[in-house]
Parts: sequence; C-alpha cells; structure tokens
Amino acid sequence: MAGKRVTGGDGREEDGAMVGLPSLDLSLAFPQATPASIFPPSASDYYQFDDLLTSEERSIREKVRGIVEKEIAPIMAAYWEKAEFPFHAIPKLASLSVAGGTIKGYGCPGLSITASAVTMAEMARVDASCSTFILVHSSLAMVTIALCGSEAQKQKYLPSLAQLTTVGCWALTEPNYGSDASSLRTTATKAPGGWHIDGQKRWIGNSTFADVLVVLARNADTQQLNGFIVRKGAPGLKATKIENKIGLRMVQNGDIVFNMVFVPEEDRLPGITSFQDISKAWNSRMAREVVSLGRELLGGNGILADFLVAKAFCDLEPIYSYEGTYDINSLVTGREITGIASFKPAALAKARL
Ligand SMILES: Cc1cc2nc3c(=O)[nH]c(=O)nc-3n(C[C@H](O)[C@H](O)[C@H](O)COP(=O)(O)OP(=O)(O)OC[C@H]3O[C@@H](n4cnc5c(N)ncnc54)[C@H](O)[C@@H]3O)c2cc1C
Repeated sequence: MAGKRVTGGDGREEDGAMVGLPSLDLSLAFPQATPASIFPPSASDYYQFDDLLTSEERSIREKVRGIVEKEIAPIMAAYWEKAEFPFHAIPKLASLSVAGGTIKGYGCPGLSITASAVTMAEMARVDASCSTFILVHSSLAMVTIALCGSEAQKQKYLPSLAQLTTVGCWALTEPNYGSDASSLRTTATKAPGGWHIDGQKRWIGNSTFADVLVVLARNADTQQLNGFIVRKGAPGLKATKIENKIGLRMVQNGDIVFNMVFVPEEDRLPGITSFQDISKAWNSRMAREVVSLGRELLGGNGILADFLVAKAFCDLEPIYSYEGTYDINSLVTGREITGIASFKPAALAKARL
C-alpha cells in the first residue's frame, strides 16, 4: 500500500495510520447524505404556497429552477471552495430574463412582486452566492437607477444591465459606517462639468468587476446624500477583492477607494437626497436557525462543504448581517411600530436619514 507510517504522540509507530492516501469517495465515507453535486428536487410545499401562484409565476419559477439546478448546482461547491465567481454562467443567468425584476420598460422584465421574489427564492434555494449576485445587480443597482435616475440614465444603463451584458454594484457601506451608513463620509465635491468623489467603500458585492457602480456619497456643499453612477475603469477608482470570507464565497466583495474620481453631471442620480432602511430581521433569524439545525443533524459531516447544508450554514452568516444586521432591522421595525427610535436621536430618526 502507498503511504508511510506515522508516529503517535509518544513517538511510537502506529499500525494502520497512513498518510498520503487520497481522501475516501464521499459516497463511501458518508453514503446517507446527498452530496452537493446532486441537487435534491424541491419536494416539499408545507404551506401550499404553489396554490397562491399564478400560472405565469409558476412558469417563471420552473424556468429559473431548471437553469439554476442545471448550470449552477454542479459547479457551485468548486467555485465556492475557490472563492471565484463563475463568469461563464452569466449568459445562462441572462437567458432567464429576470434581471431588473419588477422594473417595467427599458428591456426589463416587469415581473410582479411575487414573481420577482419567487425567482430570487429559487436561486437562493440552490445557491445563495448566485442569488446575492443577482440581488446586488438587480434589486440594488438597477432598482436605484430605475427609481432615482433620469429618463436618459434609465435609457442609457438599464437595457444592458437587464441583459446582463453589463453588471452593476451598489456602494453604500464604508469601513466605519455599516449599520450607521447614513453618516457615511465619502464626499462628492462639485467640479466643472461634474463631481469629484473621494472616500472609501467596503463589502461592495460585484465591485471587483462591475461595469456600473451606483455610489452613495455626501454632497460636500449641502451635506445631503447623493447618488452617482461611476463607470468601470474611471481614473482614481480602485476595487480590491476581500479575501478569506467564510460564506457567500462566490460573491466578489470589494474594498473600493475613490481618489478624485470624476463623475460627469449627467451621471448624478437626481432622485437621491436621503435613503430609507428596510426590514428583514425575522426571515434571516429563522433561516439561520434552520441551517444551523440542518448542520447539526449531519454531525461531523455537517461541516463539510461537500454537503449542501454546510454551505448553506456558512452562507447564512453574511446574509444575517448584510442589508442591515438583525439588530438594526429589529430596531428599525420597532421604530416603525412605535414611532420611537431607540438607536438614534429622535430628530435624526424623524428625518429618516
Ligand atoms: C457578504 C456581504 C455583502 C455585502 N454587500 C454589500 C453591498 O453590495 N453594498 C453595500 O453597500 N454593503 C454591503 N455589505 C455591507 C453590509 O450591509 C454591512 O456589513 C452591514 O450593514 C453591517 O455593517 P457592519 O459590517 O459595519 O457592522 P456594524 O454596523 O459595525 O455592526 C456590528 C454589530 O453591532 C450592532 N450594532 C451596530 N449599531 C447598533 C446600534 N445602534 N444598536 C444596536 N446594535 C448595533 C450590529 O447589529 C452588529 O451586530 C455587505 C456585507 C457582507 C458581509
């Protein structure tokens, strides 16, 4: 047999303890569990959710399910392990025509809110990195342009984003301003014909390769929050990949530095003068509990990325914290219900900055 003898802690040679052997085939090592390479069918519908969907919503769900199971499931464990994004899969995701979600016109699909949610849920069911990629691109970058952009900006940017021939990202968070993002320090200073952006962003999904960066910055004159569309390759713009993540490893999160990045006036988003929080606390708490129990059920094998539940367990950690941490979303919900902000001076809370 190949391999050499190793010694125990006391220095004695141990019979049978060999190194240098390939690891055991998972189907032999843990035959009870389904490895990540075989994606299990969606077999349960405890709340009879199906009955609530229209035929269009069902059909888009089947389409998304089919593509994501066929194109993403077989490769996701390997790309997750390498912490790389599967760029070759973008045209397959584009073929679903779901980028842009509920946006109407400009080449966007104009889905119902339910259909849009169903497509995201289907992607997340297979791979949370894949759904996060689309979420950032579509629900953050594209929706911001659709809601806050000028007619010319919508016509210029949305069609190629909808086809995924260009990719978007959305840059709000800064190294010192995550939960308290409304205090952000990145500045936009008026310059002839446009603006200069200076500052730093952190954690920005897709930013290492995005063509279109939607950036929130503080107007140096008015102190209001303004939004800008920054193009890939703009002089003074540098995005660096954040390494060593324990979850959503396929998503390319970046640190961005803006050093006098010029944005022409036509790329300032006219509709942004502040921003509002959103709430997702309960869902992410329950999801975290479910994947934690699932991981526990598999015992030691539950920590191997070869099994879907371990990957889901790791992916839920960043999801629990992004788009507002659990605590912040709970506090925001509390403020909505009671009208009392327990986490900020009332005057600021009232202004909803
Ligand atoms: C994988 C990933 C992807 C992301 N993608 C993007 C992106 O595309 N674009 C973008 O702009 N951002 C993105 N983010 C950033 C994300 O939104 C922030 O990480 C999040 O808002 C939390 O901010 P923080 O990390 O600075 O944590 P902090 O705000 O420092 O929070 C640390 C802890 O303190 C608690 N806390 C903070 N303030 C209070 C308070 N007032 N009261 C009680 N508790 C409080 C929080 O709940 C948390 O538990 C991403 C993050 C991750 C991890």
